[in-house]
Amino acid sequence: MIVDYHVHTFMCGHAAGTLDELVEAAIARGLDEVGIADHMPLYYFEDPDLAMAPDELPLYVERVLDLQERYRDRITVRLGIEADYEPATQEMRVEILGRYQWDYVIGSVHILGDWVFDDPRRLERYQGLDVDQFYLDYLGAVGDMAETGLYNTVGHADLAKKFDVRAKIDLEPHYRELLGKVKDADMCYEVNTAGLRWPVKEMYPAPDFVRIACEMGVPVTLGSDAHSPADVARDFDAAIALISEAGYQSIAAFEGGAMRLVPLPEYQPPDH
Ligand SMILES: [Zn+2]
Ligand SMILES: [Zn+2]
Repeated sequence: MIVDYHVHTFMCGHAAGTLDELVEAAIARGLDEVGIADHMPLYYFEDPDLAMAPDELPLYVERVLDLQERYRDRITVRLGIEADYEPATQEMRVEILGRYQWDYVIGSVHILGDWVFDDPRRLERYQGLDVDQFYLDYLGAVGDMAETGLYNTVGHADLAKKFDVRAKIDLEPHYRELLGKVKDADMCYEVNTAGLRWPVKEMYPAPDFVRIACEMGVPVTLGSDAHSPADVARDFDAAIALISEAGYQSIAAFEGGAMRLVPLPEYQPPDH
């Protein structure tokens, strides 16, 4: 079975295409399930170029449920959301997430302190940065996120590398510590192919992370982090190869917040 659980919509302000075009693309690529998981309102500040506004969330849910209904005979559409973790506004997130029956919630760290470090408009902050400490702060925040118990899957687990700024320290013990928390929270993480489209030119997370996660028994799922129909399931042949080489024989799938494991697919993209 093939799933793409990380697909954005135009509602976030930085993605292209209609909702129907996203689902049609998923069907054309031979997926069994497509999970729409747009950026949840941020709450730490409002930026119409980063996420929908708080009052748009009900409309988002309505639109995804409508897709689910209309495409029922052709593909399974899942209701997901990519929710941030940001300690100061976490209470708000807990309350709002509790209002809807999500198939799954992706937990992502995009902000450290007041810095949205993955925003290409905020690159000046990388100048003179203590990169090792930045990685430790980032991985620490992802671990804190897992410990909240609010999320089902870790989004782009090593996003700190997005602009190819690399830590010098050995990250393996920190990956292990984080993965212990992910496992204790009964979460999985995604292999996210979007890294291939950014300066780092590598999927999230790094092959070492995937190998250690498999060894520790932490489940994995698939996400393209598509911000346009063309990117749905993009590079999934490479993602499935990475997962398989790490030793996995299954991937995680979600319904109503419950995870189940399904056999790892062979994947030949039909349009290649
Ligand atoms: Zn985005
Ligand atoms: Zn993200």
